[in-house]
Amino acid sequence: MIIDQDQRHPRIWYPFSSMKGGYPVKKVVRAAGEYLYLQDGSQLIDGISSWWVNIHGHSHPELAEAIYEQAKNLEHVIFSGFTHQPAESLAERLCEILPHQSEKIFFSDNGSTAVEVALKMGVQMLYNQGAEKIRIIALEGAYHGDTFGAMAVGARDVFTSPFQPLLFDVDFLPFPDKMNEEKALERLENLLNDQIPSLFIYEPLVQGASGMRMYSAVWLEKALERCQSKDCLTLADEVFTGFGRTGKLFASSHLKPQPDIICLSKAVTGGILPLGLTAANRKIVSAFEHQPFSSAFLHGHSFTANPIVVAAANKSLEILERPETKMRMEWLCKKQAAFRDVLLERGIGENPRVLGTLLAVEAAGGVGDGYFNSLRNEIYHHFIQHQVLLRPLGRTIYTVPPYSITEEALESIYKAIIAWFSR
Ligand code: PMP
Repeated sequence: MIIDQDQRHPRIWYPFSSMKGGYPVKKVVRAAGEYLYLQDGSQLIDGISSWWVNIHGHSHPELAEAIYEQAKNLEHVIFSGFTHQPAESLAERLCEILPHQSEKIFFSDNGSTAVEVALKMGVQMLYNQGAEKIRIIALEGAYHGDTFGAMAVGARDVFTSPFQPLLFDVDFLPFPDKMNEEKALERLENLLNDQIPSLFIYEPLVQGASGMRMYSAVWLEKALERCQSKDCLTLADEVFTGFGRTGKLFASSHLKPQPDIICLSKAVTGGILPLGLTAANRKIVSAFEHQPFSSAFLHGHSFTANPIVVAAANKSLEILERPETKMRMEWLCKKQAAFRDVLLERGIGENPRVLGTLLAVEAAGGVGDGYFNSLRNEIYHHFIQHQVLLRPLGRTIYTVPPYSITEEALESIYKAIIAWFSR
């Protein structure tokens, strides 16, 4: 039995948390593989890859070694006027494996900045081409990050309401679940018909933070075709879905039409260090060529392409591309699908679903919508008591384990899920 004692530090302002109440904060002293080791001597299986980032397991020795070696040699250098091998290798490799014929990679620090950069690139491209007015289109319920641009294209809810007057106008399409596919396409067509230069940003195939809401690849292909036939720029936010999460290397790899920009972060370094990447195709890049300085993309961060971070990304990619990792990923996809089938056959939970290595299912009941459903705390505590970290989104229970998870640990997660529904 894990003691739910709150160990939050009084000098730390924790993210996504009220100062009092909420989940008790636990002190973690060590992590290895899929396990987090706590100060009270207990251990937890990390069933969510620590905010969906940690794909190869915690404290991976090869990633640690890559960081150490890089830190001894070149730890950081201003990325304006200088370049370095780790960044060049990563950009080269990504342009080879990204499905959208990426031509250039822009480096930043996290998922929000990867999105912010994509939005700014898209908007400035249209501006450079003489657009006076720009239409921005997104999907209802989206989450693209916490910076102002990323907030503006995301769901307008309690997370964004203090800033609402400062967020730029966005046209939201209904979330294209089965009921709304036609309606969402119609709205998109109507928006595109008025010829205002536009861009469309979306989380491909699954909206993560809004409750692992999956939608059809066929719908997305139709939406992208509509956009491309009207010269609307398309921006795929693959911050969550990138690097194998959906069963293919990128969610966009499931689709024929490809976006102009892909945003990446989270798992790019194996979840060991923060990095944001914005990958642009020829169409975007060409709008910034042969321009005066005032038309260049005047954006950058102090730690842009930090060599240590990028060395971790290179190593993570190398590990990801190994046949044994691919086999682990395929195994995990199959296990998740088989467990979804068990839930379906036994009528357990609402809407059990799988996308590659992601499994989600809703608990019935509770009060309140979405993230704030009253079951949230209860579900969280249930899993902690079963020595599993699964941080539900409201009443949505989901697991996105590291690809390296052992069968034993995965079965423990499944047992804990069944136990929730058998209470
Ligand atoms: N986009 C998506 C699809 C995300 O899931 C997230 C984070 N959950 C972000 C952007 C923001 O990433 P970060 O938290 O690294 O800023």
